[in-house]
Amino acid sequence: VDVDEASHLARMVGDGPPGLVRDLGAIVGREQVLAPAPASYLADEGRQAHRALQGHAEAVVRPGTADEVARVVAWCYANDVPVVPRGGGTGLSGGAVPFGGVVLALERLTAVREFDPLRWRIAVEAGMTTFGLKRLVRESGLVFPPDPGAGEQSQIGGNVSTNAGGPHAFRFGTTGAWVTGLEVVLPPGELVRIGGPVRKDVAGYDLRSLLVGSEGTLGVVTTAWLKLLPAPEAVRVVVGVYPDVASGCDALEAVIGSGLLPAALEYFDGGTLRHVARGFPTPLPDEAGFMVIAEVDGSEQEAARQAVELADVLAEGSVAVFAPEPGRDVDALWRWREGVGLVVTQVHGGRISDDHVVPLERLRDAIAAMEQIGARYGLEAASFGHAGDGNLHAGFLYAPGGLDQVERAEAAALELYPPTLALDGSVAGEHGVGVHKLVQAQEQLGPRRQALQHAIKQVFDPKGLLNPGKKVGPAPGP
Ligand SMILES: Cc1cc2nc3c(=O)[nH]c(=O)nc-3n(C[C@H](O)[C@H](O)[C@H](O)COP(=O)(O)OP(=O)(O)OC[C@H]3O[C@@H](n4cnc5c(N)ncnc54)[C@H](O)[C@@H]3O)c2cc1C
Repeated sequence: VDVDEASHLARMVGDGPPGLVRDLGAIVGREQVLAPAPASYLADEGRQAHRALQGHAEAVVRPGTADEVARVVAWCYANDVPVVPRGGGTGLSGGAVPFGGVVLALERLTAVREFDPLRWRIAVEAGMTTFGLKRLVRESGLVFPPDPGAGEQSQIGGNVSTNAGGPHAFRFGTTGAWVTGLEVVLPPGELVRIGGPVRKDVAGYDLRSLLVGSEGTLGVVTTAWLKLLPAPEAVRVVVGVYPDVASGCDALEAVIGSGLLPAALEYFDGGTLRHVARGFPTPLPDEAGFMVIAEVDGSEQEAARQAVELADVLAEGSVAVFAPEPGRDVDALWRWREGVGLVVTQVHGGRISDDHVVPLERLRDAIAAMEQIGARYGLEAASFGHAGDGNLHAGFLYAPGGLDQVERAEAAALELYPPTLALDGSVAGEHGVGVHKLVQAQEQLGPRRQALQHAIKQVFDPKGLLNPGKKVGPAPGP
């Protein structure tokens, strides 16, 4: 229903007039208007790990400057053409999938506008990749902490627009916590700067926070001013392995209660470990039914001291606790972590996985709910995620060839939403709402907050042309 709504809305506003390719070509150069739109710009990574969703568009437009972005949006606004901003296309919620109009690809906006390493800040254009930025600042001894999993491909503009998280969001917060300013193109095609290098700013309502996580529905991000941190001298990782969910969740809560402040606190349940343990850099015991990975950092001495304390806390109820060698082994562990979703998806060929968040103490209940639903539908259930944030990527595995299995997986995934809300959770932690979670997000918000969301959309985008039908869905009729 949600996908249909988005597609219907895009059709209502139309695909664009006949001169579209010529006129947009006059702004960005004819070779930067791809028509017909290549298929690679019409889907997101949801097709791998979630749900197959192939959109359609009149053209893909690839501006080379912020000024060109503004002129493209202005032309589209004047001609009633929907605009779907696109970063690296690694989103998992269908947010970058177009249903008509033009795809506005930001990949050519990769310049560094300002870099001030001694003041721990940088301003980069939206199309720079997440890992590209991380590598660049690392050369100056700095870190950009947000670390969503597909960083070689995802872009800073996409990270800002989804307020992306990742393992290190536990201590450092999601992308928005690092944004001090944005340059955005707002309808009907105006280049506006909100904030900048200043670290504090309460002049007026917080438009920066409103744009962070707005999934391309309020404005097109062209540049982001970002805070950075000095890189820690040392990083240590400790791994705890448990027989079951109960003992693993006890360990997670013990870590938080201990007063230690890990940079990252991740978990993997038995349904996941069954498939990914073989690729883990260190052999895991057969009894592994739950695993916790925690990272601490600081000076060499401080990191080592915290790692010892962490190992002590994680030992309670465990079947094994170990610390990979700093450096190569820790890098290998985080590389393994990045591939977990893909490996689990490949077990049967498909996985419908959503991005639930619950208070930490309810994580065990959320995992239990997922397991019960999976058993009822005769499907393997697997979850893993950013435990410290109570963020679980809860999925049901299926073989894509069997229609019955796909339908059961869809139904099972839908059934997990009410328990999440009942546990005081959120249906969308870090992957955005896109189109896949429109109905559930609306349920979570309720009428008053929904109305406020639609009113905000109306103020920014009165014609409803920016990424129509996504994030807040169509406004209710009169
Ligand atoms: C293997 C894998 C692991 C992942 N792990 C994580 C994780 O740990 N944490 C996490 O949060 N996410 C994760 N993701 C999801 C995804 O990587 C993030 O949502 C990422 O921030 C998307 O960035 P992108 O550039 O690919 O955006 P896209 O997918 O291109 O777009 C996402 C949304 O942002 C909008 N958008 C993109 N660029 C702009 C712009 N410049 N201006 C305005 N709107 C824009 C699009 O319209 C769309 O609505 C993962 C994805 C994969 C495939």
